[in-house]
Amino acid sequence: MASYNFLSQVHLIVITILIIITLLTPITTNTSPQPWNILSRNNFAGKLTTASSSVESAATDFGHVTKIFPSAVLNPSSVEDITDLIKLSYDSQSSFPLAARGHGHSHRGQASAKDGVVVNMRSMVNRDRGIKVSRTGLYVDVDAAWLWIEVLNKTLELGLTPVSWTDYLYLTVGGTLSNGGISGQTFRYGPQITNVLEMDVITGKGEIATCSKDMNSDLFFAVLGGLGQFGIITRARIKLEVAPKRAKWLRFLYIDFSEFTRDQERLISKTDGVDFLEGSVMVDHGPPDNWRSTYYPPSDHLRIASMVNRHRVIYCLEVVKYYDETSQYTVNEEMEELSESLNYVRGFMYEKDVTYMDFLNRVRTGELNLKSKGQWDVPHPWLNLFVPKSQISKFDDGVFKGIILRNNITTGPVLVYPMNRNKWNDRMSAAIPEEDVFYAVGFLRSAGFDNWEAYEQENMEILKFCEDGNMGVIQYLPYHSSQEGWVRHFGSRWDIFVERKYKYDPKMILSPGQNIFQ
Ligand code: FAD
Repeated sequence: MASYNFLSQVHLIVITILIIITLLTPITTNTSPQPWNILSRNNFAGKLTTASSSVESAATDFGHVTKIFPSAVLNPSSVEDITDLIKLSYDSQSSFPLAARGHGHSHRGQASAKDGVVVNMRSMVNRDRGIKVSRTGLYVDVDAAWLWIEVLNKTLELGLTPVSWTDYLYLTVGGTLSNGGISGQTFRYGPQITNVLEMDVITGKGEIATCSKDMNSDLFFAVLGGLGQFGIITRARIKLEVAPKRAKWLRFLYIDFSEFTRDQERLISKTDGVDFLEGSVMVDHGPPDNWRSTYYPPSDHLRIASMVNRHRVIYCLEVVKYYDETSQYTVNEEMEELSESLNYVRGFMYEKDVTYMDFLNRVRTGELNLKSKGQWDVPHPWLNLFVPKSQISKFDDGVFKGIILRNNITTGPVLVYPMNRNKWNDRMSAAIPEEDVFYAVGFLRSAGFDNWEAYEQENMEILKFCEDGNMGVIQYLPYHSSQEGWVRHFGSRWDIFVERKYKYDPKMILSPGQNIFQ
């Protein structure tokens, strides 16, 4: 009995000591989110927010098909804030993930950081600084958090403009340079990533470097199209040219896909032809306009809709020629000559004459319209592809005239336009097909919260069709659920992508939402 009492007293003392030790020891493990612990120990917590509204908005993006919660959001006010954050993670034994978030216009959680920290780059925007135009050097130095529309507004004040654009301008410089940045100017000027002269980048080790094609060139090319994997861009120097004043904006309708692509390919092979070229597919039975563009005269809607009805799939070639005072007398003649050389369905040519700004900012009207109806923040199960020229006719048969017609669910814009591979640069991280000419194809759907999965299913069907046919199709704004998908995506360039990851972000801290390195 005495020994039992003695043993239970010892037991009690040991338990009490353990409780005291536990209470006095700083919490270092699972009880609360890991980055928060590291950051609070380093007096960094004051710069972060865990407010549910911030965390909730960092968990979602334009796609509205994923919800990936970070532990906290950093609203940096300086480059040092970001450098310090990355260093804290890099130096810690248990690093935490973090992702730069530009404008959150990804569609699949690419700017998320599960249980880590999302860096809200837009909080860096300071209206008094951050965009510096050099008239003599013909470039603009811009903080990566600025939107392209803001860059355009600023450069136009001095009569200058970047030359390569996206269709929609409310995207950050850092966000599009991490992907590519493509539009109807790409065939001529290359994507936005080939129009950058220099960048400041904070690597995954928390080191800041200025890079260009001649200085730290491997980092420079790694980051361009690098899906945020190698560093956070804080500044980019973008090439400029003298801005044109106006745009002649023409559309031509086709029923024959081979005539349509032949005309597109001929136009992009010319060095002095149009300034912008895109194309789209119409399969709907509704009005020919869509959220992205209000273009056709209402008096022609019925005529166009009945053409779509009759042929089930029709195509639209869209070209633009910029002009100003010096070329205003020749531009009409030039466009007339161009129209005569094209094999569109006669009687189905449309023309608009708008300011340069109105043309570049054309998608904004659609956005505001959708926002006013509460239809902007809805699921967007988008699919963007690069299709080699040799496969585009097979793609038309199998996808536009096959899967899309059969499923009969696709609504919204479907883009299809070619670009020249020689305007890209193989040292950049962006993955593109091997052929000299390849097509950008974009299914830009808006869906409901209750039916977006049907579109996702259709996307899978399209991807499977391309894979089964061994067509060499590569996703743009890619999403792959497994690393095998990424290995296939980069093909022979996968090894260099991995090598660069180990070099610039060895602890795999950056942009985990791309799902490349688990
Ligand atoms: P986010 O979505 O915030 O981030 C995208 C990725 O880049 C993430 O991985 C993020 O971590 C990383 N990132 C962000 N900022 C930085 C930085 N400073 N440094 C390093 N990494 C960073 N794309 C085209 O090419 N052409 C188009 O015409 C086009 N039109 C679009 C129209 C709409 C309506 C939308 C929603 C998207 C469109 N896109 C287009 C796609 C768009 O270019 C990409 O989704 C782009 O990433 C969005 O930019 P963002 O600033 O919102 O980036």
